[in-house]
Amino acid sequence: MNVLDSQRLAGVLEASGLRRANRPEEADITLLNTCSVREKAVQKVLTRLGELKQAKQSLGRPRVVGLCGCVAEQEGRGLLARSTVLDFVLGPGRVAQLGRALEAVAAGEKVSLTGFSPSQEYEAHLIARGGGARQFVTVIHGCNQHCTFCVVPYTRGHEASRPLAEVVREVEGLVAAGAKEITLLGQTINAYRCPATGAGFGDLLGTLGSVPGVWRIQFVTSHPKFFTDNMIQAIAATPNVGTYLHVPFQAGSDAVLKRMHRGYTRDSYLELVGKLRGAMPEATLSTDVMVGFPGETEEDFGATLDVVSRVRFGQLFGFIYSPRPRTPAAQYPGRLPRSVAGERLERLFALQATVQFELNQSLINCYVDVLVDGPAKRGAESWQGRGPDNRVVNFPAWNGVRAGDVARIVVTGATPHALLGVRTADWKGGSPIPTA
Ligand code: SAM
Repeated sequence: MNVLDSQRLAGVLEASGLRRANRPEEADITLLNTCSVREKAVQKVLTRLGELKQAKQSLGRPRVVGLCGCVAEQEGRGLLARSTVLDFVLGPGRVAQLGRALEAVAAGEKVSLTGFSPSQEYEAHLIARGGGARQFVTVIHGCNQHCTFCVVPYTRGHEASRPLAEVVREVEGLVAAGAKEITLLGQTINAYRCPATGAGFGDLLGTLGSVPGVWRIQFVTSHPKFFTDNMIQAIAATPNVGTYLHVPFQAGSDAVLKRMHRGYTRDSYLELVGKLRGAMPEATLSTDVMVGFPGETEEDFGATLDVVSRVRFGQLFGFIYSPRPRTPAAQYPGRLPRSVAGERLERLFALQATVQFELNQSLINCYVDVLVDGPAKRGAESWQGRGPDNRVVNFPAWNGVRAGDVARIVVTGATPHALLGVRTADWKGGSPIPTA
């Protein structure tokens, strides 16, 4: 979501005739795009603003500095008043007004554009996407869930689905421009409902799945409480939907889930997992987990570990709870010492690494169809791509390989965090097995 927001900001700049600088030090305008889900974000912004102030003093650049994204929405006004280097603040609901902010700065004003309007523009045609094979498409803005820990409803506004026909047009345009994999985005994506026709998320997937040229569709983030049996059937029935299902459970204890205001229990989550696996046996489940929520006991945390052991997620994103402004949980008693929460996070990650290693090892001798991303960080010889379940796959490059290619890779080895393999043409073993 943040990547797409940056592409939207870049698109508005390019549409007003500006060009991308080759290096940060050469930029006349610098925008900081920010996330405020956890508390370190504001600290990072202050550090970056300090660096930009120094650069401006010594190099005369950047001439204009703008703060965008969720920190802008949440803290922007205060930061604008305090910072001598910041020229404007632009919230996520105001991206289309970036040109207006720059005009105001040129006229010598400091501006803060935040808040959300029901008629807010979404200038999909202006997004500077860079032509890659993997592209993001927002289908639902904002969030109405008000989980007690979460700042998103305050920084991204109320939930609003985009019309299905508009999403289809955007996807058709991306495929025509060379996109192969489309990742649909929304904070609670399976709450999608077309404002024009009432079509739900299952209908949206079915329609997008039949857009010619869409090789694969992924989607994040699903909320456990919005899955219906019909939706699960629709996901299973759309052949080009990826096998990666990201379904955060956050905590395994019903008492904690209740205080988080998540709207499901441990048992109903496990029941949902059973239904998803029943309909899509090949699916890889991924999740978000929070440790150290106020009042979390060792027994509560044990229940979280128990869910991780039972479900055996293919991927897990774990976080230490961090109190956010305006959220109810920030006022809850029973805040845990950082050392206790940190130690729980380590135990969670250790368990998950064991599970992931076993799952990845079980794929040796199987093949995966990978969308090639490019050279892996470790060196130009080894390249990287992702399979249908979003797993990272590393393989030796071959003559003529290009980012955006689709390749069949046989898995020859595994680590907890990646698969290693070779393309089928270079495989010397017997017939590789499909992963499903
Ligand atoms: N909308 C999604 C949902 O409700 O499942 C999650 C969106 S949030 C951007 C991504 C993850 O960040 C959450 O699933 C949660 O695990 C974590 N998160 C959110 N607020 C947090 C907080 N205050 N402290 C720590 N982690 C947090």
